[in-house]
Amino acid sequence: MAYVRTEYPPWSWSFSRKQVFASCLRRYYYNYYAAHNGWEDNAPPEAALAYRLKQLANIYTALGDAVHRAAENLVARTSRGRALPAAEEVEEEIRRYMRRIWKSSRENREQFLMRPKRVDMLREFYYGTGVSEAVLARINQRITQSAAGLVHSSVWAHLARPGVQVVSCEQFDTITIDGTPVFAVPDLVFWVPGGQWIVVDWKSGEEVEENREQVALYVLFVREKYGADVESITARLEYLNLQTSTELRFTEQDLLTVEQNVLASVEEMKRLLKDPDLNIPQPKERFALTEAREQCPWCNFFELCRAELEQSVS
Ligand code: SF4
Repeated sequence: MAYVRTEYPPWSWSFSRKQVFASCLRRYYYNYYAAHNGWEDNAPPEAALAYRLKQLANIYTALGDAVHRAAENLVARTSRGRALPAAEEVEEEIRRYMRRIWKSSRENREQFLMRPKRVDMLREFYYGTGVSEAVLARINQRITQSAAGLVHSSVWAHLARPGVQVVSCEQFDTITIDGTPVFAVPDLVFWVPGGQWIVVDWKSGEEVEENREQVALYVLFVREKYGADVESITARLEYLNLQTSTELRFTEQDLLTVEQNVLASVEEMKRLLKDPDLNIPQPKERFALTEAREQCPWCNFFELCRAELEQSVS
């Protein structure tokens, strides 16, 4: 499809957008507005830098990506009727991915500065903070645990049953709620003969309440996209490093609440727009720096905020 330039980014909503909005309005501004068109050769310096910083991963998000890729490969393998690999094999696949990101971050700084979308870079290398021994030990442990959690998940036994159909796997898609495109990327959706729908969300981190809210949105997505009855949809939160799984069912009332929460969040975001039809934001100053400054040294956009943060404490 041909590239069509737009002066402002297209409007949409997602769960991660809501999380960024809640964490820091300035981060939200840089991520969803300032970075737009920052890929162009003649982009203003702030847009170019916001776009570059937006591409940074961190060691935890890199682990999440590695685990999701491994899961995707297992879905493909199981769908073709092949046997599951040993946990050690999956662990090595995750480690290979992590080593590649690590190597790129250490060696490819110049390339990243020129082509940030194409070159992997961890913020721990970009900002020179490094990764502490304690974090490395935690990541190493999670790699081993997540690989074992993946291979031993009961999802594969379900998937291998005759007639089961994989409906989507890591696929970007949207539904529309009151005119707003809402992005949802369930890790895996499959349909079981007899009319059951299973939505799987792989987690390589801790168990937090927000995860339930996120899978409730996926259930709404499955209902809207595929016309499934809410009673026929089961969501599974697979906590891989804990090797536990939580099954969740929702009611029509729950999904109504999800929709209402999305609309409330949309309304809050739109209050910071100068023109809601064109998605033109208010001036940057209206997007306040967070009060929770302890998160700033770990934020991708620290380079853009550094001077302002220093001024605000002096
Ligand atoms: S560095 Fe702090 S104030 Fe700036 S965008 Fe990040 S979290 Fe917000």
